[in-house]
Amino acid sequence: MAGKHKKKPKQAPKKKHPPKAPSPGTNVLSWEDDPQGNTPVSVPSPDPAEKPLAFRFPTPAPAAGQYPLGTASFRYWVAVEALRRGADFWSPGIPGGTWQVGAALPVLLDEGEDLNAYYDRKALNFFHGPLGDGLVYSGESPDVACHEMGHAILDTVKPGLWDAAAQEIPAFHESFGDMSAILSGLQVQSLRISVLQETAGHLYRSSRLSRLAEQLATAIRAQAPDAVESDCLRNAVNSFTYQDPLKLPTSAPATQLSSEPHSFSRVFTGAFFEGLAGMLSATAQKPAAPTEEELHSVSRDMGVILLAGIRQAPIVANFYSQVATAMVQAASETNSAYGPVLNAAFVRRSILSLQSAAAIAGLSSTLGPQKRAAAAAAAVESEPPLARVALDGNRFGLGNRAILVHTASHPRRVSVYAAAPDGGQLAAPSADTAATAFVDDLIRRGKIEVPQRRSILGALASTRSLKTHRLVSTEEGILLERILFDCGHRHR
Ligand SMILES: [Zn+2]
Repeated sequence: MAGKHKKKPKQAPKKKHPPKAPSPGTNVLSWEDDPQGNTPVSVPSPDPAEKPLAFRFPTPAPAAGQYPLGTASFRYWVAVEALRRGADFWSPGIPGGTWQVGAALPVLLDEGEDLNAYYDRKALNFFHGPLGDGLVYSGESPDVACHEMGHAILDTVKPGLWDAAAQEIPAFHESFGDMSAILSGLQVQSLRISVLQETAGHLYRSSRLSRLAEQLATAIRAQAPDAVESDCLRNAVNSFTYQDPLKLPTSAPATQLSSEPHSFSRVFTGAFFEGLAGMLSATAQKPAAPTEEELHSVSRDMGVILLAGIRQAPIVANFYSQVATAMVQAASETNSAYGPVLNAAFVRRSILSLQSAAAIAGLSSTLGPQKRAAAAAAAVESEPPLARVALDGNRFGLGNRAILVHTASHPRRVSVYAAAPDGGQLAAPSADTAATAFVDDLIRRGKIEVPQRRSILGALASTRSLKTHRLVSTEEGILLERILFDCGHRHR
């Protein structure tokens, strides 16, 4: 732009960078995974509105360029780059290339003060909060951005999960967010090289890749020391194994497992990350020294396997076991070396009992990858609706009014179960039992919006935790509806 170099008279600083569309060839700065302890890298300017899976940011947008750290224009391009990278990773698996919300997903980068971020079926929402003497912006971390976008991707792939009342369903949504952050990060070549160096080729070691959202976690830790792990928000390298969520506490310090979705998500994410590392060493030419190209290839295969598994799995109370089973089947068809290592990872986490894992290994594969993809797409189109069930309102302090919920009630195609502590199989709860436990949890954690506070329900809801659900009056009774998936810790 010739005019750019003309000396202009005194102007307000904000007019220095008039809005314009990003011009090809201009570089912007971005973080590879998280701002904490890292230096930004220079990358070609991405286009937020690029299809498929376009994003819509508020206008005017700052012109593409390399802005100083700590400025809104710098954060804007960091977020665009991270989200574009994530959406481009998932888009081959999203036929039609549109979001659950439509052709473009709105992104709101600074919606006020909170140590949080959420997806509410309208937009990705990010916030800012105190961090030492400065501020942390949740939308500045690619880990957080690609986690939020993961909720939107999963909502597009399997919309029935949104309102399914069972503890494993929102926990899986949280796990998918973290898996999306890890797999999106692995699309950055410099990060792949850095992680292989840091772990000496052993991917399943704590690293900047496995440690998610370090900076946001530092800010949360200052206010609630036991709400996050000691060095990050959640670590995909962990030793949590599956336990019956009905028997877990409603909430617990980060060092323990609870039925709270972010806490329980770590079981599945741990299995996924262990499986990813196993798939890498099983296929690398030198298993002890995999290359970044091999890591790239395995990460892309894992994305395909994950989406195939999710599409194939019925929405049931023991969703983890069902997704794991379908993933092992899809993995075996992708590469014969993948199936056994993934199956073993799920067994180590007790997500699959030994009996179930043996049964899966024995299932002969009748579909090729292409037929499987077609069958999976058809499965989503013909996905049966979830049963709507009336639960006794007395239990929840609602008197005689029933509360209507959508239960995780799909028919099971295969009988696969998690392992019990004694090595046997854990029977899955009925859809109604799982729904009751789910509503109990929401109420005890104060996650349901309740207008009046003069009841135990209202008093519980008056805590400042961000509400994920609301009660809507309908002709048949009070319906429980999800508002959003939240991902941080309410500040204040
Ligand atoms: Zn989340």
